[in-house]
Amino acid sequence: MSLVNTPIAEQLRIVITGLRNAGKSSLFNSIIENNIAIVSNTPGTTTDPVIKSMEMGNLGPVVFVDTAGIDDIGELGQKRIDKTYNQLEIADIIIFVTKINEDIIKIEKEFLNKILKLNKKILIVFTFSDFKHNQNKLDYFKNYNTIIVNNNDKETIKKLREKIIAISNDIEKEIKPLDGLVDDGDLLFLVVPIDSAAPKGRLILPQVETIRDALDKNCSVLIAKENQLDIYYSLKKRPKLVITDSQAFEIVKKSIPEDQPLTSFSILFARKKGDFNLFLKSIKYLKNIKSGSKILINESCTHHRQPDDIGTVKIPNLFKSKINKDVTFDFYKELPNKEELKKYSLVIMCGGCMVTRNKILSRLKILNELNIPVINYGFFLAYVNNLLPRTILPFYK
Ligand code: SF4
Repeated sequence: MSLVNTPIAEQLRIVITGLRNAGKSSLFNSIIENNIAIVSNTPGTTTDPVIKSMEMGNLGPVVFVDTAGIDDIGELGQKRIDKTYNQLEIADIIIFVTKINEDIIKIEKEFLNKILKLNKKILIVFTFSDFKHNQNKLDYFKNYNTIIVNNNDKETIKKLREKIIAISNDIEKEIKPLDGLVDDGDLLFLVVPIDSAAPKGRLILPQVETIRDALDKNCSVLIAKENQLDIYYSLKKRPKLVITDSQAFEIVKKSIPEDQPLTSFSILFARKKGDFNLFLKSIKYLKNIKSGSKILINESCTHHRQPDDIGTVKIPNLFKSKINKDVTFDFYKELPNKEELKKYSLVIMCGGCMVTRNKILSRLKILNELNIPVINYGFFLAYVNNLLPRTILPFYK
């Protein structure tokens, strides 16, 4: 797949961090062979993260992120460090940049200890190879994966790229929507409502990705709107799977035979982006939601909201009519801090198609640590439409 057709949320994410003036931005520019990040000798030139995708041989498209220095100062500086940390949380590989000619300092040690807890692949890049090498620093990092580079020397940058490719081979890649669910030659029937919530002139990402994956897997695809389901009965070949938008569950359930394998785009994305088993485990808590509970709805991107918006209107209304009417809802794009989170009895997430799997997994990790049940829209809508376990059975065959 090329840069053009791989969503940025699915590209391997490599985040560059380190002290101000460690040579991060110049390294970033050398890796991507472009002068995107501003390089200067003045500490703190990089403020917000700078993001750029590039093709990296067999690895395909990769996103590189340059970040502000971990020793940034002042109130704004702290905000920049927080932004850097947010990027590190969703990174696949962290490149920790440090000057080879200077001793390691306390801030670097403390920051490293913090990012070690993220359990990511870390590569230490020593910059300024043409300066005298500081033995203390080399000794400190002797158990890490390291490389020494000169940002202006193409040969050392080439070696760095090769090292990144080698490290990435060990990283678990995000699966495709239909992996393990279909075989060559299968027919898929997709139900795609084109209602007021559908973006003008295009399909949404989960639908596009599923169609592309079906074609890559040599399946044929029939697509119909929810008011055209009669076509199902004219098919000579039974679809291997019907995949519907979760919002059309009710009509699909009425219109398609009960023994037809069925799931939804959101449930496909629950597996692709999140932790299918955690959602499944959490769904049973819906029965125990008490009056007065607070529910957090986590929608990962900002989009134009229609009057019947799924996250802010439909799901809260369905919850109140089918689960418990005496609950309240809060809406967050990012999770609030842990103290704030503790007041919630349940989190309901969107499909997360615009964010990385790592980002969703880092949220799930926090919720799991706090014992807060979490499901996604697809699981919730399947539950309230009495479509569990039917819509998850295709994943167990
Ligand atoms: S990230 Fe979430 S809210 Fe945004 S389009 Fe994808 S599923 Fe919808």
